[in-house]
This record gives sequence, structure tokens and C-alpha cells, in this order.
Amino acid sequence: MLPDALVLLDRNGRVCWCNPAAEALLGIRWPRDRGVLLAERFANDEVGRWLRESGEDAGEDVASPSDPLVRLQMAMIPFGDHQQLLRARDVSHMTRLEQVRRDFVANVSHELRTPLTVIHGYLELLDPADVPALAPVLQEMRAQSQRMRQIVEDLLTLSRLEMEHKLPEEQVEMAPLLETLRREAEALSQGRHRITLEDQAHVDLLGSLKDLHSAFSNLVSNAVRYTAEGGSITIRWRRVPEGAEYSVTDTGYGIPAEHLSRLTERFYRVSSSRSRGTGGTGLGLSIVKHVLNLHDAQLRIESEPGQGSTFACVFDAARLLTTATAEE
Ligand code: ADP
Repeated sequence: MLPDALVLLDRNGRVCWCNPAAEALLGIRWPRDRGVLLAERFANDEVGRWLRESGEDAGEDVASPSDPLVRLQMAMIPFGDHQQLLRARDVSHMTRLEQVRRDFVANVSHELRTPLTVIHGYLELLDPADVPALAPVLQEMRAQSQRMRQIVEDLLTLSRLEMEHKLPEEQVEMAPLLETLRREAEALSQGRHRITLEDQAHVDLLGSLKDLHSAFSNLVSNAVRYTAEGGSITIRWRRVPEGAEYSVTDTGYGIPAEHLSRLTERFYRVSSSRSRGTGGTGLGLSIVKHVLNLHDAQLRIESEPGQGSTFACVFDAARLLTTATAEE
């Protein structure tokens, strides 16, 4: 038996035919359900919502109407003359594995947090002046333990974001946030770069301040870390046809085109030595991607090796709020 459920629909969305798996996974039986309007049959469950909202798009998986523990990946495929083929695939096994992976990463990170804090704490207590011969070693140990702590914190942030379907929504005032980001850039750069802030949008965002701050400052920190001394960094907030865009442009090392599509993968780095040398964890852009997904926003990357890069976060108009100052 074919494991996927298949349901052939006529131009009005009525059942013309289905296979035996459609009974097990969707509860549609042949020939009993011939002519049934699919949208009506599933009006009150997740399959119905998928039909209304996602349509052809595979998107997230949905609960099976026959068994809520079974997760289905849905697809609507155009078929023949104005007909459509609905395909539902049981992906419960994969969903469970994904859950095991998430829990494992979250648990390991959590378990590492306490011992690392203890080690780091003792290292901070040791004074290199007491043991001058070991001073360089002590310095290196402190730097590496700090790096490990940062990796663990970033992994925990990612785990939290992965489990979240919705973030708290508040009015995120952009003017003070941008000012904070500029100050952070200056602190990181320590005068090695020219830093400019262009706030042209004069709108606020609807979302989570903490998470947007973390995403935006990751982009700022990358720009500082991947731009040689003497370069420029521009933080920009402006209106675009879709809504508004927060971007960070640098005149740094840039990224060869073949790497662009993979940058947001965990631990993906164009050059490991350069990333580690600048204190990177390899998780920054994954965090940015997750935060933007939870804000229905998109990350756009443009880069030219040797010229520099622009990382832009594009927010829909639905996310924009009028600021108090803009009304004056
Ligand atoms: P990392 O902690 O290694 O910086 P990220 O996830 O923030 O990790 O970035 C992934 C990789 O993308 C980096 O290792 C670097 O190679 C590249 N990258 C990110 N931002 C920039 C930038 N502004 N200019 C050049 N390369 C960048």
C-alpha cells in the first residue's frame, strides 16, 4: 500500500477519488465520501486551517484528523484538467526525532552551564600577578572559558527560540534601540571604525524587545568583527515597499556568493580561524534567522568579497507602529 494519503479533488474542491491510506491518515473513505467538499469536512481542524491558509505551500506539518499524535506534511499538487491532488505524508517519526534532537541540545547546554560558571568563577579569582610565569596561560584559559560560556548561552537562546511559536508582542521603540546599538558598535569597535546611524523610518516595531535587540546587535557585532580597522559601518532603519528595513552595512571582508545561502546554519563559518579569532560562536546568524521568523520578517544578505556586506531585516507593514514623536 502506498504510505502517502492521496485525494483527487475536482475544480470545486470535491473528492473524486482517494487511496486506502487516505482513510487511515485523513479519515476519508472511498467510495463513501465521493463528492464531499474537503474544506467543509475539515472545517474545524488543522487540516482545514492548512487548506485555507497555506494552500499549495508545504509549510508546517499538521495533526491528523484521525489521530492527533500523527503529524502530517501536506501538499496540494495541480493535476490534469483543473483538478488537484492532495497529498498527506506521515512525518510523525521525523517530528519525534527533531524533538529528541532539540531536547538533547537544550539539556546538554543546561547541564554545562553550572560547571562552566564554577570554572570561570575560580579563574577570575586567580590573580596573574601572583603567578607571573603562568600569566599568559591564565589569560588564555579565561578567554576560552568565556567563549564556552557564550556558546552555551547562544545554544540555550536558540533552543528557547525553537520551542517558541509566538514571542511576547510589545511596542519596540526604535529610536532608543538604534541609539543603544550605535553605542554597542562603538564600544566593540573601540575607535577602529567609522560608525554611522541613519534613522529615516520614524516608526516603531511590534515584537519582542529582548529578541529584536539580540538579533540586531548580532548583526552589528558581525559588522565590527568582519571589518578591518579604518572601515565604515552604517546602521540604517528606513521605509521600504514591504514595510520597513533594519540593515547593517559594512565595508569589510565580504562573503563569497557560494556561502550566502548557508550562513544561517548553526556553526557555519566562511573562515573558522577568522571567526574564532574574533570571539564568534558560529550561532549568531542562526539566532537572527529564528528571531526574524518569529516576527514574520526576512533576512536579506548582499555581499561582495573585498568590498563589504549588507545584512537587512525586512518587516511587513503589519508590524509597524506609529511612534509618539512621528505624530508631532
Ligand atoms: P560567528 O560567531 O562565527 O560570527 P555568525 O552566525 O554570526 O557566526 O556568522 C556566520 C559566519 O558568517 C561568520 O563566521 C562569518 O564567516 C560570516 N559573516 C557574518 N557576518 C559577516 C559580515 N558582516 N562580513 C563578513 N562575513 C560575515
